[in-house]
Amino acid sequence: MIPTTEVSILISPYGQKLVDLRVPAEAGDELKAHAGHLPSLQLSERSVCDLELLATGAFSPLARFMNQADHERVVADMRLANGLIFPMPVTLPVEPDPAIRLDQEIALRNAKNELLAVMTIEDIYEWDRAEVAQQIFNTQSSRHPLVAEMHRWGPLNISGRLQVLQLPRRHDFQDLRLTPAQTRARLETYGYQNVVAFQTRNPLHRVHEELTKRATKAVDGVLLLHPVVGLTKPGDVDHATRVRTYKTLAENYYDPDRILLALIPLAMRMAGPREALWHALIRRNYGANHLIVGRGHASPGLDSTGKPFYGPYDAQEIVEKFSAELDVRMAPFQALAYLPDEDRYEEIPKIPAGARTISISGTQVREDYLNKGRPLPDWFTRPEVAEILAEAYPPRHRQGICIWFTGLSGAGKSTTAEVLTDLLMEHGRQVTVLDGDVVRTHLSKGLGFSKEDRDVNIRRIGFVAAEIVRHGGTVVCAAVSPYRATRNDARNMIGQDHFIEVFVDTPLTVCEQRDVKGMYAKARRGQIKGFTGIDDPYEPPQHAEITLNTVTHTPAENAHHILADLIQRGFVRAHTGQQTNGKISN
Ligand code: ADP
Ligand code: ADP
Repeated sequence: MIPTTEVSILISPYGQKLVDLRVPAEAGDELKAHAGHLPSLQLSERSVCDLELLATGAFSPLARFMNQADHERVVADMRLANGLIFPMPVTLPVEPDPAIRLDQEIALRNAKNELLAVMTIEDIYEWDRAEVAQQIFNTQSSRHPLVAEMHRWGPLNISGRLQVLQLPRRHDFQDLRLTPAQTRARLETYGYQNVVAFQTRNPLHRVHEELTKRATKAVDGVLLLHPVVGLTKPGDVDHATRVRTYKTLAENYYDPDRILLALIPLAMRMAGPREALWHALIRRNYGANHLIVGRGHASPGLDSTGKPFYGPYDAQEIVEKFSAELDVRMAPFQALAYLPDEDRYEEIPKIPAGARTISISGTQVREDYLNKGRPLPDWFTRPEVAEILAEAYPPRHRQGICIWFTGLSGAGKSTTAEVLTDLLMEHGRQVTVLDGDVVRTHLSKGLGFSKEDRDVNIRRIGFVAAEIVRHGGTVVCAAVSPYRATRNDARNMIGQDHFIEVFVDTPLTVCEQRDVKGMYAKARRGQIKGFTGIDDPYEPPQHAEITLNTVTHTPAENAHHILADLIQRGFVRAHTGQQTNGKISN
């Protein structure tokens, strides 16, 4: 049996050690060769994150995915079977499979099939989705992102000894990725008794800077700025952008002797109070003895009735309650507000009566500032942070957009697309056209008109369009795209907010009269089989963003109609950017 190492760092008050599940390098080759013969389990992104935190001791005293006894007690009363506090299930859900049986060793792999660990299955048990949802998240609502996600998890959990070969490879911000042992070692060099951790999944603004500095000062310690770079709430600012903001803040606005910035690949559950307690336990393992817990810690947002899932102070209460047992105190936290007349932040209870305060909400940051290309004000965000956010979230007219034409052959897709393309260029957009006929001469060369081939063709167009949109480009697609489900796939690839479906609703009789390419005649004569509208179906869109009539309107009229719609949505600017007073207007 290959040994795993235990790092001898005592964690009070239990005196247990920080376990490190990685096998020593010299044993790695042997285990790797062995793993080649084992059945494999591909882990979800979430399980990969969990495995990494298990492997490095970040979840100590937990050192494996939970077995049934631990899981049941954690769900019911936030403790492992041995009685130690652990508020959050960390399980490995799987689908039933003949390879999943007791005493079987399995190779755990990531999405790229890289070998991460070998697990010896010692427990297999069913778990109850509804009960876990209720107990952990206090709701059954699929508005809760984890409750929604849990429906895709397998019905069985497996547990057993883990031998970890390698941590998931991460190539970005390597100097900031520290294990608990490395974090503790670095914190020791600062020479302070107290370490206050700040957990975050959002860009930091001035108010966060203020409150972290105040908390650090209050405990006379060092700040562990510990942003989550694993999984956060869907829709959050991507981690690369966030980490760029944290770096610039740590470098320019904090006392370097009082801050350690490190990244944690945690997969958050958005479980409010339970999660806050979990964060405290995890940060203790990283060497902190204080955690800042604010309003609505780890909040999943609002439920279907518009109410928050958890009370705003539930998280603070629970951390306070278990603080002695965990040996992590809650850092003094006061809600702050900005006083524009005095240009400073103040704790809300200390604000003089009648004083003016201002604030900007997260939604306003996106909608009123970033989407409109307005700079965030200095009192709200440091200029370096505002610049990084503006780069990552350009205004609407510089975000990507896909205009997807669909309709019968000869309906007028290409003709209208050509006019629209010129108009878009006139308005300052760079356009790529993916015309069905043209795409079939290169990207989709060799594909025919069977259902399968047509679906492949559309998915290829969708894939390319999605890449263009992701990089802020404008793409006009014009293919028959007769099948609704496939068009919806394209919509999902590209993203609902950036997909404008244009149904060119020309009746078959009109298309047939036009018969630009003489194909309808051939199809009628039976010389072409499976021709859309003749002997192959066209499924019209049910919720196209725009429907065009090419009988009553000219191509130019229809193209202007689409342009007006794009201007109204903010994807195109109304004027063409001509010179005014010798200056380029924008
Ligand atoms: P598709 O790309 O949908 O197969 P095309 O744009 O290649 O169709 O062909 C449409 C034909 O119909 C062209 O010959 C075009 O000149 C003609 N046409 C007549 N009226 C219109 C209109 N209002 N909009 C678009 N095309 C029209
Ligand atoms: P799809 O969405 O079916 O891949 P494309 O726009 O790529 O559509 O190609 C459709 C074009 O190919 C039509 O405009 C027509 O000129 C030609 N074509 C050839 N065979 C067929 C067919 N069986 N059904 C429809 N169009 C066909």
